Order: sequence, then C-alpha cells, then structure tokens
Amino acid sequence: MRFDIFSVFPAYLNALQLSLVGKASEGGAIDIAVHDLRDWTEDRHRTVDDTPVGGGAGMVMRADIWGRALDSAFDIDLGRENPRRILAIPTPAGYPLSQEICTDLARNSDQIVIACGRYEGIDGRVAEHYASREEVEVFEFSLGDYVLNGGEVAALALVEAVARLVPGVIGNPESLVEESHGSAGLLEYPTYTRPLDWRGESVPQILTSGDHGRVARWRRDEALRRTALRRPDMIAALDAQKLDRRDRAA
Ligand code: SAM
Repeated sequence: MRFDIFSVFPAYLNALQLSLVGKASEGGAIDIAVHDLRDWTEDRHRTVDDTPVGGGAGMVMRADIWGRALDSAFDIDLGRENPRRILAIPTPAGYPLSQEICTDLARNSDQIVIACGRYEGIDGRVAEHYASREEVEVFEFSLGDYVLNGGEVAALALVEAVARLVPGVIGNPESLVEESHGSAGLLEYPTYTRPLDWRGESVPQILTSGDHGRVARWRRDEALRRTALRRPDMIAALDAQKLDRRDRAA
C-alpha cells in the first residue's frame, strides 16, 4: 500500500514518521511519500491559488497546479497490473469517513493519493477530471461536521485509520478485534487496568472474577448501553435478528 500526500505545508505530515505508522513505513509494510505542492508551480512566488471565479471571499487552489502534481503520483508504476488507485480529497462537503470505508481501502487499494486543500479549497474541476479517468477513483471525504483550516489533519487521520488495518502494521492483530465501529456495529465497552483501586474508584468486580462468560456478557451489555446513550443512530442500524433477549434488556 502506497500513500502520496500533497500539501503546501508538508512539515505538517512529519507526524507520520512517528509511532506505529512511522515504524510500518520504515519496515516497508507501507510506503508514504509527502510532496510539497509548490514544487509544481512555475512562477517566482510559487503561487498555488487565485481569486474565486464569480466573486466571493478567499482564494481557491488552482486546477493546473494540482493536475501536474497529481499526474506525477498517478504515473508511478506500482508494479502490478490494473492497480486500484484512489484520489482522496478531504473536504467538509465530503462523504463521512468511516471504519467500513477504511477497511475497504486497507484491503483493496494499492495507492491512496491525498490532496490537502487550503483556503477555500481546490478548484472543483480537479475532482471532476480525475473521476472521469478510468484508472482513478475519487473519494471526497469529511472528518466531521466542522471546518478545519486545511486537509492535513484529515490526511493524517485517513493514513492512520487505513494503515493500522494493513497486515503487519499492528503487531498484535487481536487488538483490532472488538473495537468500536467494528463488525458488531457498537462502540467498545469501557476498559481498565491496574491499580484496581484508584482515588476511591474500583474496577468492576466482575472483570476480576475469572469467569470469561460473565466478563464477555458484561462487556456486551456495556457496549450496548454506551452505544444507546451516545450513538442511538448506531443502535437503530443494528440487525434486530442478531440481538438476543439480554441484548434488548441492556
Ligand atoms: N470553503 C470550504 C467549505 O465551506 O466547504 C472549506 C474550506 S476549508 C477552510 C480548507 C480545507 O480544509 C478544505 O479544502 C479541506 O481540505 C480541509 N477541511 C476542512 N474541514 C474539513 C473536514 N471537516 N473534513 C475534511 N477536510 C476538511
């Protein structure tokens, strides 16, 4: 899996050299290349933006510069026939990013090129042009219903969420089982560690009982309760056929 990230603030992406993603890219489980969009400008000032056609506040990032930059990434030979190449464009006007989408990208894509917008965003023809190209899939995605100053934070989120699902990136794949937003369609239950007593708060006794069946049931109940409280939309989306009587009571 290869990630190519384009930004006018490439140093923002330095965090990808840290922790598990950094180790995975050093070890070769994934490839990450960060590019400075200004390398594809042609003027002395390395200008990437211009005023909006039709008027209005702010500046829009130019299609001609993005086109040259993105073509350079899509021209890279990935060493396999018909690779699945994604152009991911962060935008608050995009489709919500989800664990399901990240799982699909981790399993079934070969290259994710991320175009980090700034200012009022990227000229709309960039997404339209690449969507019309057979070898590229365009995915305009949003991190949530709020507006950031640029796409770099969204790029970091996408790379981390996808990379941790690529085999070999997380040392113990068991830790990916039973997570929030996994196949159970629930938020994860609360987790605890030692010390068992802290500031007058004890770990729920059932967790130290050694009774694996009761621990599993407690965790399922807590996951259901937490999800019902915080994300009723996820409860509404559960398959009723897969719920037992205890699930309903929780
Ligand atoms: N004018 C745009 C609009 O209202 O839809 C907002 C532009 S925003 C100030 C600049 C850049 O930040 C966007 O091009 C995008 O790359 C990024 N961005 C902002 N909010 C985001 C979000 N919720 N999800 C993903 N990217 C976001």
